[in-house]
Amino acid sequence: MKFVHLLLAIFSFATIFAQNPSVNDSLEIRKIYDMSLLNGKSYDWLEHLSNDIGGRLSGSYEAQQAIEYTKAELEALGLDKVWLQPVMVPKWTRGSREYAYLQTGPGATTELDICALGGSVPTAPTGLKAQVIEVQGIEQLKEYGKENIEGKIVFFNRPMQADLIQTFKAYSGCVDQRYSGAMEASKMGAVGVLVRSMNLRIDDFPHTGSMSYGDLPEREQIPAAAISTQDAEYLSSMLKLNRETQVYLKMNCEQHEDVQSYNVIGEITGSEKPEEIMVVGGHLDSWDLGDGSHDDGAGCVQSMEVLRLFREIGYKPKRTIRVVLFMNEENGLRGGNKYAEVAREKGENHVFALESDAGGFTPRGFNFNSSEAQFEKITSWKSLFEPYLIHLFAKGGGGADIGPLGNSGNIVLAGLMPDSQRYFDYHHAANDTFEAVNKRELELGAATMASLMYLVDQYGLD
Ligand SMILES: [Zn+2]
Repeated sequence: MKFVHLLLAIFSFATIFAQNPSVNDSLEIRKIYDMSLLNGKSYDWLEHLSNDIGGRLSGSYEAQQAIEYTKAELEALGLDKVWLQPVMVPKWTRGSREYAYLQTGPGATTELDICALGGSVPTAPTGLKAQVIEVQGIEQLKEYGKENIEGKIVFFNRPMQADLIQTFKAYSGCVDQRYSGAMEASKMGAVGVLVRSMNLRIDDFPHTGSMSYGDLPEREQIPAAAISTQDAEYLSSMLKLNRETQVYLKMNCEQHEDVQSYNVIGEITGSEKPEEIMVVGGHLDSWDLGDGSHDDGAGCVQSMEVLRLFREIGYKPKRTIRVVLFMNEENGLRGGNKYAEVAREKGENHVFALESDAGGFTPRGFNFNSSEAQFEKITSWKSLFEPYLIHLFAKGGGGADIGPLGNSGNIVLAGLMPDSQRYFDYHHAANDTFEAVNKRELELGAATMASLMYLVDQYGLD
């Protein structure tokens, strides 16, 4: 090629760029995906969080280790600012392993796979033994009346609805049994609660999760445990054979005083509109049975990766971009509430927040909590995501931790939507470990998040 032709080629290339920002955008987005897939850091970070630290329940030593580790890693990225935001969190401990068995006859017992629900009171030191009554939910519990419930263990056994394609819908259709079951059963005179695990698969893992006694006085609070789906089926079949079937339950959990903890925050200060803040985040705490790899180690490392990817490809955001690793999503949401509270006090202007808290699976798209006009603007970027098989742009949603930010101004909240079919195989259970997360899927998620952050930064959402 002659020199003049080369010049012409460069010139026309540059003209295309100037006239058509989407060509430039698609090249930037390509760079983001390349960097994440060829030279990503998210998987290494997750490996450390999962295998070297492990489950990070609020107020635990592991949670504190995770705070220190992620802060140090963010500092190593050379961001403009990295800091810890103090927040008091509840502390609940499981104690030594729970134990339960089913009495099938005189001296004949079968062990059941159970785990205490988060926030539950323990049983008496000698345990609890009572007849079991199965119900399909809180409504049916109330229909039975006090006379049928008094002195018994209530067994909530309504399964997640398998024909719902969006498994989060199946989850929200059932989770009232876990969250409020003990409170409602106690009002009817029950002495304990077993809840079928929030899991679409039949297996041996009990899945924990938060529960609440509402305003019940301490003496009326009854122990609550999750039972594996396999043993829920088994218990149900045994109750059909013999309604007098008894279950023994022993739980050693304990609620402590609140303790000091932190949100971990890192920032790239905007070059043109530093006062406009965009947040990307996940929650750093997790349940204690597994390593919290999908929930939500994945979301944390993906969010950290967004800022690292920008630095690596040399992208300087116009707006301020913050990664926030929220503390205590699982059993209190204190971190999310604190972050929003401080933002309000400081009069900060948050324009966008993106959370990843639905597992580290293949990304499919996002959901948005926005105005109609904002949603239209976002969906105009859809074609830029098509090469990466990202196609779902849904209305409604966001994430638990960024939710409290939503009360202020014109902010758009968004949630990464990965494929959800396998999420509840692992959610809050002992098998939520590093091996359950696929490297490429995790990295694709990080790049997908970074691409959306890039576009919002480029064009705003006004
Ligand atoms: Zn979560």
